[in-house]
Amino acid sequence: MRLNSAYYERILTEYQLTEESLVSIEDIRKFPFTTKADIQTYNKEFLCQPLSRITDIVSTSGTSGAPVSFYLTDNDLERLAINESKSLSIAGIHREDIVQLTTTSDRLFMAGIAYVLGLRKIGASLLRVGPGLPDLQWKLIKEHQTTVLIAVPSFILKMLEYAEKNQIDPSATSVTKIICIGEPIRNQDFSLNVLGQKITDKWPIHLYSTYASTEMATAFTECHAGKGGHHLPELVFAEVVDQQDEPVPPGTSGELVITTLGIEGMPLLRFKTGDICQYHLSLCECGRTTLRLGPLQGRKNQMIKYKGTTLYPPALTELLHELDYISAYYSEVVTDEMGLDCIKIYVAGNEKDADLISRIKEHFQARIRVTPDILVTTTQEINAIKMSFNFRKPVDFIDRRTTL
Ligand SMILES: [Zn+2]
Repeated sequence: MRLNSAYYERILTEYQLTEESLVSIEDIRKFPFTTKADIQTYNKEFLCQPLSRITDIVSTSGTSGAPVSFYLTDNDLERLAINESKSLSIAGIHREDIVQLTTTSDRLFMAGIAYVLGLRKIGASLLRVGPGLPDLQWKLIKEHQTTVLIAVPSFILKMLEYAEKNQIDPSATSVTKIICIGEPIRNQDFSLNVLGQKITDKWPIHLYSTYASTEMATAFTECHAGKGGHHLPELVFAEVVDQQDEPVPPGTSGELVITTLGIEGMPLLRFKTGDICQYHLSLCECGRTTLRLGPLQGRKNQMIKYKGTTLYPPALTELLHELDYISAYYSEVVTDEMGLDCIKIYVAGNEKDADLISRIKEHFQARIRVTPDILVTTTQEINAIKMSFNFRKPVDFIDRRTTL
């Protein structure tokens, strides 16, 4: 890696490290971290191969900063196929399955090609339908007797809305499981969160969560026990560290740090994912002894310190999701005159403003023991704000903090 990547050549020389410095796995702590900013600034310097050996170029989504490119050799695509076939096998997918892919397999999206290659390796039948089009999804499920869906969970809610309006009974279809990507479906104790519950209330089906990123080119996927995503130790070395970069014990929140194994194009050393989660080492109900990664709690740079409590935006969204008496919402965090984080929640509902505010405040007090500022406005105004950002989907959290 050192000889081929201009970036690591420079950094390792600076730290007076060589490949020989890495004898045991513990030695990895001598090596410096790689951050998202490093990859953004020096993107092409991470490339370890001539472009003539590159087979596929993918890109990160850019929702947390400028998108970066990742370069895969033919062997990297094979590694990706092995990763995804192992990962989907953990979720019980086998060659008899008919799998419907409701996410894109192009647009420089690594996961898309990973599913295609992984399912091909398993020998399952694949329907590459792509995103959206609930009517077509249901039609194809019926026509081809689909057994598994790969989907973003909030899209499943859209499919269920369509089913309700069109007298389709999801339980009467051939689908038995959904691989949920992109959004957590569980709380930290592995019970289903509001999103997971909303799906299973309307459709009693087995949900499997999977967590992956372009940078690690490896997935952590749940088995039938649903107790966290299983680690594939042969493909990625995982660490979870606290704010002082020290390893945290199991069941404690920290930032996931990964070192990719077996990658030729753009390997990463101690990459700080920015993702906050917990890991678990106890024996899984499925009999596997590998590390399991709990649901993603949030992004490190979005951590909110509020009245002595540490919070991440998904927790706010989760609390607001539970309130069926509000018709629209978004939350924002600003820096107050003391330089502290201040949470403001904008809601719309049919009740009198004062009633709505006190009801929501009580809910927050009961659940997280702190109450943010609640501001009542109209659904129209909220939707306009949510759509005013240049992201791939409406936002429900806005970070307006001034960086000091
Ligand atoms: Zn398991």
